[in-house]
Amino acid sequence: MEVIKSDIVIIGAGLAGLRAAIAAAEKSREVSIALISKTYPIRCHSVCAEGGTAAVLREDEGDSFDLHGWDTVKGADFLADQDAVEFFVREIPKEILRLDNWGCPWSRREDGKIAQRAFGGQSFNRTVFAADRTGFHEVHTLYERSLMYPNITRYDEYFVTNLFIEDNAVKGVSAIHLKTGDLVFFNAKAVILATGGAGRLYGFTTYSHQVTGDGLAIAYRAGVPLKDMEFVQFHPTGLIPSGILMTEACRGEGGYLRNRNGERFMEKYAPERMELAPRDVVARAMWTEIIEGRGFEGPYGPYIALDLTHLGEEKIEERLPLIRDAARKFAGIDPVEEPIPVKPVAHYTMGGIHTNMWTETPVKGLYAAGEVAAVSIHGANRLGSNSTAECLVFGRVAGEKAVEFVQGKRFSEITREEMLAEEKRLFDEFLGRSGDENPYEIKKELNEAMDRYFWIFRTGEEMKKGIKKIQELKRRYENIEIVDKKRGFNTDLMQAMEIGFMLDLAETVAVGAYARTESRGAHYRLDYPKRDDENWLKHTLAYYAPEGPKLEYIPVTITKWQPVERKY
Ligand SMILES: Cc1cc2nc3c(=O)[nH]c(=O)nc-3n(C[C@H](O)[C@H](O)[C@H](O)COP(=O)(O)OP(=O)(O)OC[C@H]3O[C@@H](n4cnc5c(N)ncnc54)[C@H](O)[C@@H]3O)c2cc1C
Repeated sequence: MEVIKSDIVIIGAGLAGLRAAIAAAEKSREVSIALISKTYPIRCHSVCAEGGTAAVLREDEGDSFDLHGWDTVKGADFLADQDAVEFFVREIPKEILRLDNWGCPWSRREDGKIAQRAFGGQSFNRTVFAADRTGFHEVHTLYERSLMYPNITRYDEYFVTNLFIEDNAVKGVSAIHLKTGDLVFFNAKAVILATGGAGRLYGFTTYSHQVTGDGLAIAYRAGVPLKDMEFVQFHPTGLIPSGILMTEACRGEGGYLRNRNGERFMEKYAPERMELAPRDVVARAMWTEIIEGRGFEGPYGPYIALDLTHLGEEKIEERLPLIRDAARKFAGIDPVEEPIPVKPVAHYTMGGIHTNMWTETPVKGLYAAGEVAAVSIHGANRLGSNSTAECLVFGRVAGEKAVEFVQGKRFSEITREEMLAEEKRLFDEFLGRSGDENPYEIKKELNEAMDRYFWIFRTGEEMKKGIKKIQELKRRYENIEIVDKKRGFNTDLMQAMEIGFMLDLAETVAVGAYARTESRGAHYRLDYPKRDDENWLKHTLAYYAPEGPKLEYIPVTITKWQPVERKY
């Protein structure tokens, strides 16, 4: 069996993983860095990010770190750790300028300065962007930059299956080389998880099919706690019927939301911020309009109109070309001429691997950054354009921290017994298994259950049914059969494993949501409609146990912003 030794192993080559690799390579030319991903880096999910990246660039024009911090904490419904937020808002402007230096084609103002646009819950126009292809340009900039460092070795299309930990210290990972089907072991002194979120738990989602929460599940199974998994973001504007994101920048550039009576209904729900209230508020308002019969009826069910027609063709072409293209191709609608049919859509995993603000997990040498991590700056509801920003800031921190950690450390070997056990688990017990359940049917039913029981409005009674369904699916999963038995490019094997990861994660969302008897941010319970700071101003930690997650709670860090009622 092949063993590759590398001081630092980074799993995931999206924005967070690429940024971590560059930071590590810049900090030391001596350390060896393996950058592993199941897709090619320029096909990572981050390329889909559309609207932009939040940063304070204009203190002279009225923005400030405090304002960005306050917006983020209030947007998070006070569940964010404020020390992490304070650090984050001060660091992100440097990242924007660094990317500018490295060639990122930011959109510009007439005076040549980097342009910024409005975004939901941000009380200053502070979202930096590259038209509506921000993630694409950020990833390409980082990818090109990463090629400069000889100590970064890429392992593209390697699917990580497990994490090896001994005496609470990480010592490496196993991965299937997808092309050959060979199992490869990466022995490391430090590991950074940057594998993204778990958007595909839901059926109606903006996420690409690769976003199956692998890193979250692998860490969870290895004993690392997951934090605040019950908080899932529903973005207001998913294109019907595909769920493709119609970026918040549509509203940032002046778009309206209208019900079937032609009303800009946000006036009732968030009179000050209107369409640019945070996503949880807008998504709930849209769903309320639909439930109360003021949505439009279409062949794919009820929807709300996203109206850009008043912006004019020139502005739409300059600022939102991808949106126009997607709406035309996937809904047959030209937004220049008519409103776009949209409804809320699962969009972001606020929860993640429990880390402190230095991206350190409770396991020595194991770091997490990007959407896979809960650092936690997003709390109960992330503000738009704070996620790509998080990847850049905390990707860098993770890379630098890992380099500091490996200094003077020795490799702790992955034993032959451990390697044989992983080989047996994957190929004999999993691929070799025969049963009568189809993994894709299980995935379909999981998606339906999440869309139904753990959507925008939740109740204890419905969630109980959802938990039962997930447990039933977990039992049935034990009896799946993978039809394709070959080794090379066995996407059936990979997807069956991803479905297993998703089942474990769905249970953490479900059990955490059922236990939290309050409404906060994106977690809204009709049976407990109020926020309850006395009992619930705390983070959930979910620990793996074979019979289902065990929950514990830890306090939220408050530095300068005391919780107040959240009004927009
Ligand atoms: C449509 C859309 C638009 C968005 N727009 C914005 C925006 O404008 N602004 C903003 O701030 N945020 C936006 N977001 C959110 C943001 O894009 C993501 O949170 C962010 O890009 C996540 O980056 P990441 O590096 O953490 O993970 P990803 O980009 O998801 O990368 C994960 C990496 O891990 C690898 N990986 C995963 N599992 C394995 C495994 N088992 N083995 C090996 N490798 C693995 C993948 O191959 C990939 O390289 C958007 C999200 C969506 C869905």
